[in-house]
Amino acid sequence: MKKQLLFTIIFVLGLLLTTKAQTTEEMVAAIEKEGTENSQLEELAYQLMDFNGPRLVGTPEMKSAHDWAVNTYKSWGIDAENQQWGTWKGWQRGITHVDMVHPRVASLHATQLAWSPSAGKKGVTAELITLPTIQDSLAFAQWLPNVKGKIVMVSMMQPTGRPDDNWEEFATEASFKKMKEEREAMEKAWDENMKNTGYSSRTINKALEAAGAVAIAQSRWSRGFGANKIFSAGTDKIPVVDISLEGYGMLYRMVEHGAKPHIKIMAESKELGEVPTFNTIATIPGTELPDEYVILSAHFDSWDGATGATDNGTGTITMMEAARILKKLYPNPKRTILIGHWGSEEQGLNGSRAFVEDNPKIVEGLQALFNQDNGTGRVVRISGQGFLHAYDYLGRWLEAVPDAYKNEIETTFPGTPGGGGSDYASFVAAGAPAFSLSSLSWAYWNYTWHTNLDTYDKIVFDDVRNNAILTAILTYMACEDPVKTSREKAVLGIDPRTGEQREWPSQRSPTRKGGMD
Ligand SMILES: [Zn+2]
Repeated sequence: MKKQLLFTIIFVLGLLLTTKAQTTEEMVAAIEKEGTENSQLEELAYQLMDFNGPRLVGTPEMKSAHDWAVNTYKSWGIDAENQQWGTWKGWQRGITHVDMVHPRVASLHATQLAWSPSAGKKGVTAELITLPTIQDSLAFAQWLPNVKGKIVMVSMMQPTGRPDDNWEEFATEASFKKMKEEREAMEKAWDENMKNTGYSSRTINKALEAAGAVAIAQSRWSRGFGANKIFSAGTDKIPVVDISLEGYGMLYRMVEHGAKPHIKIMAESKELGEVPTFNTIATIPGTELPDEYVILSAHFDSWDGATGATDNGTGTITMMEAARILKKLYPNPKRTILIGHWGSEEQGLNGSRAFVEDNPKIVEGLQALFNQDNGTGRVVRISGQGFLHAYDYLGRWLEAVPDAYKNEIETTFPGTPGGGGSDYASFVAAGAPAFSLSSLSWAYWNYTWHTNLDTYDKIVFDDVRNNAILTAILTYMACEDPVKTSREKAVLGIDPRTGEQREWPSQRSPTRKGGMD
């Protein structure tokens, strides 16, 4: 026993010494080599997106993804666990199939919205109806009984399914201008009419449900070919489906022409009661300063219109890959490396806000946090988030990064603190140095963000590889830095929009029990 212990001590000391002996240049070169020649990104993306699928909070698929992450870390020799921070409405998506059944048969591209009630075993078949042009809320209340037994179309019909860049390429200038003016006028009239009903696009579903509608059809175009945003239903009993722009436009024109189209909605989701919800936390303990932390951060949940590949599968696999590389090349970091895969970012940064609230010691010991959550692109922007001395330490760490990974990065110092948008903001609000590694867009906002097209094929692996290597180097530098980072806050300037002095965001509590109202 004694001999064994001695061997272990000698072995650990040896490891420490070899790590110490390594220069920064050698470590950076090793990280680059491991990240390039032994990349696990494609395999991780397959496991998370294709095999596991979307990660909507409260679904069994979210839980299985958490378990997969824990097991993957363990296979790399990294400790990891799922930490419960709250509960959520349990729900599981089922088969969605929507067809026009009258006056002819056509299968539609459509999907049930998140947490939408089921359409039952037999589905719902009914005539479609559009919202009327209405003078005021009284007139709308008088019209409402018309929805009884009907499926109500609650989105504006788009005048074109072609994205603007396609018009720009092919239309005459005059025709492009005319289309935009007409569309703007339609949108304005639609919004005014919605206001006249006394409801908003958020609240009208419940009113239609209460008046006896049997289902709701929407089409939330994302201004790209075939791309729709898929959010939550907002009803208690009747199903809500999103129909592609193409199918929705056709049905809408048929209603307007008096063709009385009927559709059949199959939507076989399951309600699963109240279920626990988690963050996955992985840790590589620090050897010299174990109570100081460098956190790799990316939300783990997604919306479920597709598989959440760029929101935030790519951020997730970036952090997992960086952790894998570091564990292999830098297994005994000076400070503790913690990887946070947060739950329910999409409903208000809930997982990370809970972590900040529950772990004041870790927040206090935070050396730096790196978050990535805006798509698959190379990192091109880093802001100092309003920390006065961020320029010193972020600048120092970036110096160690080879040009190939940083020559497109624009830095802003001291910058302004992010009030939301992603999980770094939960830490910034607590005064802790947390930063966003902000990506090149790759048409994120129109094509993949919260859409039905956010899938594996949109991942640009070379860019994600860059980001994993960049993150690993920054993490190494932040761990090794001889000094703890300063949290001194810059005096914030005047907000040009409001003309008032900007204020530092304040810490907020998460929703610990979601979707159960
Ligand atoms: Zn996101």
